[in-house]
Parts: sequence; structure tokens; C-alpha cells
Amino acid sequence: MNMTNALLLFAACTSLAPTAMAATGHAHEHGVASLNVARSGGSLLIELDGPLDNFVGFEHAPRNAEQKRRLADALAILREPARVVNLPAAAACRLVDAAVAEPFAEKPGAAHDAGDENHADLEANWHFECANAAALDGFEVTLFKHFPRLGKLRVQVAGDGGQSAQTLRPASAQVGF
Ligand SMILES: [Zn+2]
Repeated sequence: MNMTNALLLFAACTSLAPTAMAATGHAHEHGVASLNVARSGGSLLIELDGPLDNFVGFEHAPRNAEQKRRLADALAILREPARVVNLPAAAACRLVDAAVAEPFAEKPGAAHDAGDENHADLEANWHFECANAAALDGFEVTLFKHFPRLGKLRVQVAGDGGQSAQTLRPASAQVGF
């Protein structure tokens, strides 16, 4: 797949209903989330998808003030890209677009994943444009600092140099291109 196709596919997936992507099948494993990264020159698209438990410690609609606060706090962190990734300053990246899907926003009590009402996922994506693409040689994922229940990120990178799979952990959280 060339880079243009990879970006188009990524864009298509992020704009479609979340269920369309979920239907392609990713494991729902607590402690683990997936990060899809598409990079072409100075364009950088990052998509996060993983069990909601990793971010708030439960997967049902909030039942009390404490759970509402935890969910709101998690969403607030994800809406602030500086707390999610640490991009090289020299790359001069700016956030163009960000979307965080709010769990349980549509119908209270409705099951999110068809056939499984005991689990819920959280999805978010960010689009950066970097003025100095040459300096964009990788980035650090800082999610682990905010979400201690998250122990592992499975990263798929589609970049100018091809595709690669990488595994990040709290002690080694650098995505390389
Ligand atoms: Zn679950």
C-alpha cells in the first residue's frame, strides 16, 4: 500500500461510524490499546482505540458522581494532545483536528458493541501538520503517565518508509518512523 492509499484508508476509517472499524475485529483486552499512526511528510494522523477500562476503570455508563468525574477527566486529557503525545519541538507541529468519541453519550444504557454489553471501548484521533517534516523522526506517547491501567500499546505505523508494528510500554513509549 502506498502512503496516499494508507492515508485515505485511515481517513475513511476515522470518519466512518466507529462500529465499522470495530467490526474489522480488534481484541478487547484490558490493559492494552491500539494506536494507528499514519505519517506522510509533515502530516501525522494518530488514532487511539482501546477498552474504556484502561482510562477510567469501568466500562458501563457512569453510575455516580465519582465515575462521572473520572470519565470527564479522561476525556479532558484526551482532548489535550500535549498530554497524549510529545512531538519533537523542531518539527513545529500544530494540531489541525482532534476527535474524542464520548462513550455513553447517545443512549444511556445502550450496549456499545453488539452482542457484548459488558465492555465498552474508547476511541480518539488527532491530526497534526508539521512544518518541518524532516525533524519528525518519531514521538513519545505520554498516555501511560495519565492512565496507569494502560500497560501496553500495540502500534501500527504506516509511514513514508513503509509499515511497521511496534509495541510500547510505560518504560519504552517512543514511536519511531
Ligand atoms: Zn472490557
